[in-house]
Amino acid sequence: MENHTTRPHHVAIVGSGPSGFYAAAALLDAGAPDVRVDMFDRLATPWGLVRAGVAPDHPKIKSVSSQYTKTAAREGFRFFGHVCLGSGPTDVTREELLERYDAVIYAVGSQTERRLRIPGEDLRGSIASVDFVGWYNGHPDFVDLEPPLDTERAVVIGAGNVALDVARMLLLPEADLRATDTADHALEALAASSVREALVCGRRGPVEAAFTTTELRELSDIDDLTVVVDPEQVPAGIADSEGLAKGTRRNLEILRGFAEAGPDASAPHRMEFRFLRSPVEIRGDGRVEEIVLGINRLETGEDGRVRAVDTGERETVPTGLVLRAVGYRGLALPGLPFDEATGTVPHTEGRVDSREREYVVGWIKRGPTGIIGTNKKDANETVRHVVEDLTTRAPREHSPDEVEAWLRDRCPDLVDQQGWEAIDAHERGRGDPTGRPRVKVVDRDELVKLSRG
Ligand code: NAP
Repeated sequence: MENHTTRPHHVAIVGSGPSGFYAAAALLDAGAPDVRVDMFDRLATPWGLVRAGVAPDHPKIKSVSSQYTKTAAREGFRFFGHVCLGSGPTDVTREELLERYDAVIYAVGSQTERRLRIPGEDLRGSIASVDFVGWYNGHPDFVDLEPPLDTERAVVIGAGNVALDVARMLLLPEADLRATDTADHALEALAASSVREALVCGRRGPVEAAFTTTELRELSDIDDLTVVVDPEQVPAGIADSEGLAKGTRRNLEILRGFAEAGPDASAPHRMEFRFLRSPVEIRGDGRVEEIVLGINRLETGEDGRVRAVDTGERETVPTGLVLRAVGYRGLALPGLPFDEATGTVPHTEGRVDSREREYVVGWIKRGPTGIIGTNKKDANETVRHVVEDLTTRAPREHSPDEVEAWLRDRCPDLVDQQGWEAIDAHERGRGDPTGRPRVKVVDRDELVKLSRG
């Protein structure tokens, strides 16, 4: 047998978002054993939520992509876009990957939404934030969403950062939007939108809200926007209550500041926070016309968690657009165990339970929580075990060239690293004349054409 120390190990990473890239960097950093990384994405373009999730008016957050570009330029790294894990004729299966690679790391994120399970949830005009975010970010799956923006008031369900992102995107001044890489179809629709108000509803109180302070604070810097909070929901002194975490205290100070300032009736746009409200029913004839909110009180359970309890009181709010921003959810991967309750793959420090040579990182590992940087530590933990396991095994026989030939044969629209760089250069070039970071290409065929130069 060939001395296996002379051949590199070959690791597949399925998914090219932050957790996938941090895993790739950690593997290449590990140095020993010698490791090659192939990263796959079902889209032509890499970077996952950094391209298709982070709000376009947050270019600083998106700039983390420069780290991923550096990783992609390292020796031993290859990107293969338009490679989908599945069972279709142009898909690759999990078994085929396991046959060709020494280890497979799944970095597929949380690709779907948590459901509200209330009547009217699927009426036209009731939209999951995961779809709306994909739409304004030019994710090819959501280009045709056509959210109805012919309504003055939108209601956003959820009190997390995604709720803030979607509410802000609806209310940003047109000039601010036009400076971003918002997909052109969304830019034109948002510029023509009738939405003047976004009502952001949290089912628990302001203390329990999941917003981060930077995201709340930046609202006061947005032109033409008044932020409205009922002073009774954030009474004076609330930020001084005992036992509050620093972030919560700061959030409460900001919310209290909005409450004290009061609404500016002359502002063209209005964002209102309403706490202790749960969606009960969405009503309308063929499309959303109103939402019924249940009014809650808070109760602390035996486990110490503060829960929302329905008081039975109701409030009806006329609206043509409901955005459901109540969290993302992972999808089961064929052949892998799946925990339905958490929407994640069961694992022990990244090693998939009851499987060999299969690992998870990111949201499919720990659920949809944390900021981009959280994925670094998370990926390092998994990669530590991948490296440990690789050192105990001889590498597979398949050479990287054989694997590439097989992939190109199976996936006719494959986009490699060079192809992605051609797309990237084209998009940036289109943005230059108007000072935009890029103008995104959203059509699959056009992306393939561009990738071939
Ligand atoms: P999230 O932070 O978990 O917030 C989800 C919100 O939905 C919570 O307020 C939750 O309330 C509420 N909710 C859940 N089920 C509900 C129901 N059935 N009815 C009403 N409300 C419900 O999730 P996210 O906003 O999707 O964000 C995901 C992750 O990405 C977070 O870690 C977030 O910080 C991060 N992110 C960061 C940025 C940024 O840094 N700028 C931007 C976007 C996202 P309860 O607390 O009562 O469950």
